[in-house]
Amino acid sequence: MTLFEQILAKIKQYNTIIIHRHMKPDPDALGSQLGLKEIIKHNFPDKKVITPGYDEPTLAWLGQMETVSDSDYLDALVIVTDTANRPRIDSSSYEQGDFLIKIDHHPNDDAYGDLIYVDTDASSSSEIIADFAMTLQLQLSDEAARLLYAGIVGDTGRFLYPSTSSKTFSIASQLRNYHFDFAAIARQMDSFSLKIAKLQAYALSNLEIDENGAARLVLTQELMKKFDITDPETSAIVATPGKINSVEAWAIFVEQPDGHYRVRLRSKSHIINGIAKRHAGGGHPLASGANSYSLEENEIIYQEIKALLKNSPEP
Ligand code: AMP
Repeated sequence: MTLFEQILAKIKQYNTIIIHRHMKPDPDALGSQLGLKEIIKHNFPDKKVITPGYDEPTLAWLGQMETVSDSDYLDALVIVTDTANRPRIDSSSYEQGDFLIKIDHHPNDDAYGDLIYVDTDASSSSEIIADFAMTLQLQLSDEAARLLYAGIVGDTGRFLYPSTSSKTFSIASQLRNYHFDFAAIARQMDSFSLKIAKLQAYALSNLEIDENGAARLVLTQELMKKFDITDPETSAIVATPGKINSVEAWAIFVEQPDGHYRVRLRSKSHIINGIAKRHAGGGHPLASGANSYSLEENEIIYQEIKALLKNSPEP
């Protein structure tokens, strides 16, 4: 049996299926979680499928989360999508199920689960879920196609990042055959509010860039209050520094209410997830996240990016 077939066998075996994804969700986390739910409900209407987690207000257009109780986990299959390591799973109750499946496209640094499907060549977890359904000839609903398409668009930066393969296009093309408002998704993901526009302007004006293209931006709590921006909303400017052609790799330090910094790391070519792993984080080679617990650590992280670019100008 292929891994996809084993996953399907488990879905068929259990009456209750609970699907989790990572904290601080992005469109791929929600697209893969809710897209898989739609597929299971469409093909096996009698199954109870629950999708718990934090309701991220900026992503309400993708869907709402559901409440889950401890008793739901009795004899339940738990599937976790798009989440590389256990501490990032929203929430810890995922452990209470009978059988655990991990489906992800991040490096498999924390190989949790009784069954693991990890494909780091996939652009997104939504691509994997779509591939799963298409390979096994499961029926897709229009809503599943919308969610999975949005997840792929989200994680590929609208088909811009190197993770976009011919398979990504092929799957996106098949999803496009379903009836959903394709242009509305494109608009949703390409437009921003006035306050985000102002934050973009701040980011571009205040970015520090060195001679090798190492860049940094610090967003303090005070600044975020001034711009009326929440932590999840900073995702709207994570890609902004990369639009400058002299920028190669960058870090955005987002101060958290407890004073520590969430560090969002991005790179066009140099592999930066090693830096993330050294600072309580991880992620993809060119898009990862870390945590910094002091201004000194912020400085060390920036120095590590600078050194990476200086010591290996052409990867
Ligand atoms: P972000 O900057 O939060 O959008 O994160 C970019 C990528 O890094 C995502 O694929 C995350 O899954 C991963 N990532 C972010 N923060 C962490 C962390 N603390 N530990 C492991 N991976 C992370």
